[in-house]
Amino acid sequence: MIVRRKTRRITLGDVGIGGDSPISVQSMTNTDTSDVAATVAQIQELQKAGCELIRVAVPDKNAAHALRAIRDAISIPLIADIHFDYRLAIAAMEHGAQGIRVNPGNLGGSEKLGQVVDAATMHGVPIRVGVNSGSVEKDLLEKYGYPTTESPRSLIESAMRNVGYLEKRNFHDLKISIKASDVLTTISAYRQLADTTDYPLHIGVTEAGGLIGGTVKSSVALGILLFEGIGDTFRISLTRPPVEEVRVGFELLRSLKIRERGPELISCPTCGRTGIDLFGLAEKVEEFVQTMKSPLKVAVMGCVVNGPGEAKEADIGVAGGKGTGIIFKKGKIFKKVDESELMEVFLAELQQMEFDRRGESAFRTSS
Ligand code: SF4
Repeated sequence: MIVRRKTRRITLGDVGIGGDSPISVQSMTNTDTSDVAATVAQIQELQKAGCELIRVAVPDKNAAHALRAIRDAISIPLIADIHFDYRLAIAAMEHGAQGIRVNPGNLGGSEKLGQVVDAATMHGVPIRVGVNSGSVEKDLLEKYGYPTTESPRSLIESAMRNVGYLEKRNFHDLKISIKASDVLTTISAYRQLADTTDYPLHIGVTEAGGLIGGTVKSSVALGILLFEGIGDTFRISLTRPPVEEVRVGFELLRSLKIRERGPELISCPTCGRTGIDLFGLAEKVEEFVQTMKSPLKVAVMGCVVNGPGEAKEADIGVAGGKGTGIIFKKGKIFKKVDESELMEVFLAELQQMEFDRRGESAFRTSS
């Protein structure tokens, strides 16, 4: 059983992070933030996929000024990602950002940081102290070396130094991230950080890669950390449309039995008994279940002989035969359907099941 590390709780908008709050899944847009229509459209797509917090890049004034209109059109907390320019951090908060991600040491000195902290206090905006391998200060690199699996100390010291800048100003409404692109360094760094502080942690692997590489790296690193109870919110970084980050994020939580959202798809790997175009069928069903909210188990199996038995824990499933397929429920045949109509009939059954269970919550949380 996973025993979650005890952390302080902060809130961004109406989403709690840390404490007893569910581990939240977040993502980041890749649109030009000053293009309000495109950014809102992408966030709305992410919301539909379950994204609970969204971060947008704020590289200039236009982007900062667009935040108000974006926030008004979405229903999840909006986080501004700022690099170096303290004025943008302040402008972002003035224009509605409900969280900011900065590296306090890079904002141009103590006085400028003080202004950012004052604005965050005034607007009630939590700050994510985000450091990564590339941003560790020179003196820490000289003292501890470049962060590695064996010695990630420079990352932790850098994060805690930046946290110290905020604490000195009596600001504690914060979470921390320390990102590396290496899986083992990420794990050892977060373990040490978790032993050092009780602030909530945003975990992730930076520059993880494309769909397959990025998913594997993130799942290994975050899976191990979450299993050890470390991590209060996370983003799966992928060089892919952000909606895929959210899907992977929820699959990760589901696989650890931490949270479930929407149906779980079970599909067989196919073999010489496969009696249908299973890849095509699985792809269509996978797309369809993204629109569903009930926590059902849905199976897509290649043959009628073994499919229902192999997937008997599924609430509903489909299995292909020669010319005729079957729909089964909990391992028992429910309907035989001509192959030409199998997809249509199965999707209609799924829709009906979703309708029947609509009263159930989209989320199940077990920790
Ligand atoms: Fe092969 Fe049938 Fe099992 Fe799929 S369900 S792997 S087709 S035996």
